[in-house]
Amino acid sequence: MPPPTTELRFLEGRVALVTGASRGIGAAIAVQLARRGARVACVATTAERCAETVARCNALTDGAQAYGCDVASTTAAAAVVDQVVKEMGGLYVLVNNAGITRDQLLLRMSEEDFDRVVDVNLKGTWNFLKASARPLMKSSGRIVNVGSIVGLTGNAGQANYAAAKAGVVGLAQSLAKELAGRGVCVNTVAPGYIATDMTAAIDEKSAEALKTKIPLGRIGAAEDIALAVDFLVGPGGSYVTGQTIVVDGGLSLGG
Ligand code: NAP
Repeated sequence: MPPPTTELRFLEGRVALVTGASRGIGAAIAVQLARRGARVACVATTAERCAETVARCNALTDGAQAYGCDVASTTAAAAVVDQVVKEMGGLYVLVNNAGITRDQLLLRMSEEDFDRVVDVNLKGTWNFLKASARPLMKSSGRIVNVGSIVGLTGNAGQANYAAAKAGVVGLAQSLAKELAGRGVCVNTVAPGYIATDMTAAIDEKSAEALKTKIPLGRIGAAEDIALAVDFLVGPGGSYVTGQTIVVDGGLSLGG
């Protein structure tokens, strides 16, 4: 058994790739991993959109780089992973965080809205898992998917998103079994209601109503999610695989 480590920069010399790193939860995760010493490959729809996150990462650990691709494209995802491995020298952490919502009740939901949400959230995760599996097996690395409590509980108006996020959990559980023999841990973090651009469209009245349903009494911050990822990719996560860690202030407890 490895000895417990008190090393704060436990990702020193390691490469971490974070999708959806331009803003919100992904940006907070990228910065937290850089705080741990990782050189972070920040991926968003375009490399330019990651400029600010890269600068924040580089202020903590040199070597962060920006990459752009549509995560829903299998070929583009594979090209980015290849480039990261070549340019940055391997891969130890993969965080599948990029995601979108296109909310609508089922009767009004278009096929295009269903497909796009599944393509970005679920297929996008598969694309990066598939492209990264070999380098991660080589490094006995860590994979964290960002799901949602909606993938565990369902939500009216989010059938597309809930289905995609439930799929992300199934992917993590299956790959946890497939990759365990190579020492790779695969987990999901399921956020509740977190203040980012994604939730900014919720009107103030609905936001206040939602807040009253959160036992811990506050809306989550992107950093709350980043610290759960930090645990999973750090020494504390070395015997955790196939799990879903809910980070929602108790929202999903209901009641
Ligand atoms: P956000 O602020 O809207 O940021 C979304 C990120 O994903 C951006 O970096 C965006 O890049 C990237 N992205 C979207 N589509 C992409 C695509 N096709 N290809 C590449 N990158 C793409 O969202 P967030 O709230 O931080 O959410 C991050 C993750 O947490 C998502 O998976 C979301 O489903 C999940 N989540 C969020 C909440 C919440 O309350 N906020 C709750 C549960 C789960 P660009 O800047 O280039 O568009």
